[in-house]
Amino acid sequence: MVKRASILADLKEAQEQDRRLSPEAMAEIAERHGISESQLYGTATFYSLLGAELQPEHVIRLCGSVACHLAGINDLVNVIHGTLGIGPGESAPDGSFGLEIVSCLGACGCGPAAMIDDRLYTNLGPEKLQSLISDTSSGRIPPADEPAFSPRALGEPALMGESSPDLSTLINRSSEEILTALDASGLRGRGGAAFPTGRKWRMCAEAPGDERFIVCNADEGEPGTFKDRYLLREHAGLVVAGMLLAAQAVGAERGYIYLRAEYPELREIIERETAGHPIELVVGAGAYVCGEETALLESIEGRRGVPRLRPPYPPASGLFGKPTVIDNVETLANVPLIVSRGAEWFAGLGTPESGGTKLLSVSGDAAAPGVIEAPFGLRLSEVLDEAGAGASIAALVGGASGRLIPRRDFDRRLCFEDLSPGAGAIIPVGEDRSIRELVSNLMAFFEHESCGECSPCRIGTARAHELLDRGGDPAILQSLGETMAASSRCGLGQSAPTALLDALEAFPEQFSFENETDHDKH
Ligand code: SF4
Repeated sequence: MVKRASILADLKEAQEQDRRLSPEAMAEIAERHGISESQLYGTATFYSLLGAELQPEHVIRLCGSVACHLAGINDLVNVIHGTLGIGPGESAPDGSFGLEIVSCLGACGCGPAAMIDDRLYTNLGPEKLQSLISDTSSGRIPPADEPAFSPRALGEPALMGESSPDLSTLINRSSEEILTALDASGLRGRGGAAFPTGRKWRMCAEAPGDERFIVCNADEGEPGTFKDRYLLREHAGLVVAGMLLAAQAVGAERGYIYLRAEYPELREIIERETAGHPIELVVGAGAYVCGEETALLESIEGRRGVPRLRPPYPPASGLFGKPTVIDNVETLANVPLIVSRGAEWFAGLGTPESGGTKLLSVSGDAAAPGVIEAPFGLRLSEVLDEAGAGASIAALVGGASGRLIPRRDFDRRLCFEDLSPGAGAIIPVGEDRSIRELVSNLMAFFEHESCGECSPCRIGTARAHELLDRGGDPAILQSLGETMAASSRCGLGQSAPTALLDALEAFPEQFSFENETDHDKH
C-alpha cells in the first residue's frame, strides 16, 4: 500500500516554484510516489487551485458565495474590470493579475471578501479594492485582514465557555468510559449529517483491522459557514483533544486534519497544537466536494476528490481501506467537554434528540453577523433577532445545501426533532431581495462544484441554473429538483435542490411567467 498523503502538498510546492505544474515536475512527483503520470494528471486537474497553465503573478479570488453575493460582490467585478481590464476567468495580457470568482472564502460575516494570492481581505468596497490592487502591483504587499467572528452565546455556552481541558487527566479514560459518555450525551455529527457520534465510534472500534485512523474534517466549504474557522483559531486545543480521545476510544494510532486551502492562517495554529502528537496536517487544493467524507479520504490519499460508493462506510473501511473515524471540527471539539464535565450536563443543554449546543455562522442581511453558540431547541426567530435580522423575508438555514425558511416559519426550533441547522449557516434574506436570483446563485455554486461523476447532479445543476436565469417553467424546475434529490450519488447532488424546492413552494410568485417583463424573458 502506498501512503500518498503528501501528494497534494508536493503538487502545491511545485506549482509555487514555477507558477504552474510543469511536465518535468509532474514526472518527478509521480515517480517519487510510485504512481503513473496519468494518475497524477487526474489529481492535478481536479482541484481549482492547481493547474498546468502558467499562473498570473497575482491572483485575485473574489468570493461568489451567496453571503458575498448579498453583500455586493458584483460591484467589485466591475471595479476590477475598470482597473485591470479583466473579467472572471481572465488574466491581464502582461501576466500581472488574474481574476477568479470562487465558491466561498469562509469570511461570510465580513464580506464582500477576496483573497489576493494567499491573503484574505474583508469588508471590501471599491476604494479599498483599488488600493489593494495598486499596493500589490507596486510590491507593497498589504497585510491580510483578520476575519471577524463577533462570537457570542445565547444561553449557557459549552464550546465558547472553555479553553483546553487538562489532557493528562482525560486521556487515562478507558475506551468504554469514553464511548459510554458519548452515547449518553446525545452528541451527533455537527457537519450536517447528524449521525450519533458514539455509535459511529463503536462501529470503528469493533471493525476488524490491524490499523485505524482518526480524521478531522476541517474542509469547511459550505457557503455561509465560518464557525470551524473560529473554533480552530480560538479553541484548536479542544479539537486536538477530541482527536486524541477518539484515538483512545477506537484504538487508532494516527490522525489527519484535512484543512481547506482558503484558511492559511490556521496552519501555524494547528501545527503548534498538534506538535508531539501523531497527527498530520493535510491542506486541500480547492474542491467543495471534498467536504463529503469519502471524497475527503480520496483527497488525503492523493486522488481526485470523487465520493466513494457506500457501503462500506468509513468506520469499516475508510482511509487507506482501514477502519476510520471521520468527524467534523465542532463534533470533535465537544468530546473533551463531554468527557470532563459529564454526559448529563451536555445532554441537558439541548433537547432529548439533540444534545448540547450548536455553533451558528450568521451572515447575509444581518446587522450583527457572527458566530453564535445556541442551545439546540432555540427558535430561529431568536437567533435572527440577536443578529439584527428579525425583519427578513426568509432565511437559508444550513447554507447553500440547506432549507429556505420563509418568515411564516421563523418560530420553528433549531434541533434535529424540528428544523436541522445542518452545518450551522444561517443566512437571513432581506425584503428587497429576489428569491429567484438567490436560488440561481446557489445552483451556479453547485454546478461549479459538482464533481461530474453522476448525471442527475452534473446535468441537473447546470440545467436548473440555466432555467432559473431565463425564467423557466416552475413545473420543470420542480421535477428537475425532485429527480436530483432522489437519484444523485452523494449528498452534494441530493441536497443541491433543497432551497430551490422550498422557494418554489413558499415564493411561487417569484417563478411565475406572468411577473416577467419582456426584458426578463430574453
Ligand atoms: Fe459528484 Fe454530484 Fe454525483 Fe456527488 S452527486 S458524486 S458531487 S456528480
